[in-house]
Amino acid sequence: MRLISCFTVAACIALAPAAPSAQKPAREAAAAIHERVAAAVGAIRLVDTHEHLSAEAVRLKGEMSLFSLLHYVSSDMWADGLDRAASEAALGRSSLPLEKQWEMIAPYWTNVRTTAYGRALLRAVRDLYGVNDISESTYLDISKRIREANRPGWQRQILEKAGIDVSITDIGITGAALDPSHLRAVLRLDYFLVVPQGVMVAEREQGVTIATLADFEAALDRAVAAAREKKFVGIKSGVAYERSLEFGEVDRAEAERLFQELKQQKGKPGRADWTRGKALQDYMFGRLAEACAKYDLPLQVHTGFFYDTWRNLAQANPTLLAPFVIRHRNTRFVLMHGGYPYGTELLAMAKNLPNVTLDMCWTYIVSPSFAARFLNEAIETAPADKVLGFGGDYQVAEGSYAHAMLCREVVSKVLAGKVADGYWSEAEALAYARGLLRENAIRVFKLNQ
Ligand SMILES: [Zn+2]
Repeated sequence: MRLISCFTVAACIALAPAAPSAQKPAREAAAAIHERVAAAVGAIRLVDTHEHLSAEAVRLKGEMSLFSLLHYVSSDMWADGLDRAASEAALGRSSLPLEKQWEMIAPYWTNVRTTAYGRALLRAVRDLYGVNDISESTYLDISKRIREANRPGWQRQILEKAGIDVSITDIGITGAALDPSHLRAVLRLDYFLVVPQGVMVAEREQGVTIATLADFEAALDRAVAAAREKKFVGIKSGVAYERSLEFGEVDRAEAERLFQELKQQKGKPGRADWTRGKALQDYMFGRLAEACAKYDLPLQVHTGFFYDTWRNLAQANPTLLAPFVIRHRNTRFVLMHGGYPYGTELLAMAKNLPNVTLDMCWTYIVSPSFAARFLNEAIETAPADKVLGFGGDYQVAEGSYAHAMLCREVVSKVLAGKVADGYWSEAEALAYARGLLRENAIRVFKLNQ
């Protein structure tokens, strides 16, 4: 509250809020701007920078149900106490009766239906399957509708309904075989950071023997060259899940010594141990960045929040990566997920570092209000060609659909708001939208080639 003492009538008039009659035309004008911007944004064919969608043949193999669509909703349920291992063994498996699957999620669904992940699922089920709620009395009907709709062409139809032109998906080496008319792929090569497991994978994939660090470096170079050859549009790193994004500058002799030491474990099975050989990991990530520059592929790096539970968020703060980005000036970095919740830090990096592009993939369903704040700040801070505005980040097209619709709403609201505020013209807002949702991604991933 503000206390104002008025000494003159004129001062009182100047300080008083606008009369209701003056506010009404302003509100109507803002609504008209919003309506026009939303229509234009709704008509943009999206270039979707990040998904985990497989070829449709994969979803046609299984019997789908409501429980096959949970994806991120499961993560919120794990955070709410649902046992992850038990749920992964049961949900979306046709071997377990739907009644049992509903019993497992019902207590958690009550608590996560309110999150944006939950809202996205409700929206997909409503818009694509015509059922308005997910509850004890609807899950069987929804599951039946999903099962019946799951025929050849349905995945593509959902993406069409979302206005998605092309999706860049992250599903491993099989990405090379996707239908390039609407699906492209990025490849992960993080295994080159861990020895001996990475050595074993590279030897198997390339049919070579790797005895020295030089051999390993040559194998990495060949892997990136092959990715380019197979038309992958970028290299993706999810290394923030495993370790800190702080990568030191490492002497090659030190890396060679560590390589020989860790390689002694070769042949012993087991998961990669990311707690060992940090300096060697740092060194190899540098080689990966260099290979991306050499073969002109952007390096997508996961920053910020995680898909699953029990992760140390601080290790994924994008600012940890800044010294590495500065040392690798010829590499084009795409820093993902708006760095949530380190959004402002990520924006400062994009504003400062010429080789950083931001990607808002995943952000709208993590939190639409964060996404709106982030976009507002992004417009004000980052050059317009350095912001990628949409990536669904789903394993099922239904999720990509709901996310795309939410994205268009948030983007329209933010862009129109800035027109109403006098920040820019409507024409400028719409030009920005075309770059944000389409043209920037085509350029960054060279999709026209
Ligand atoms: Zn992802």
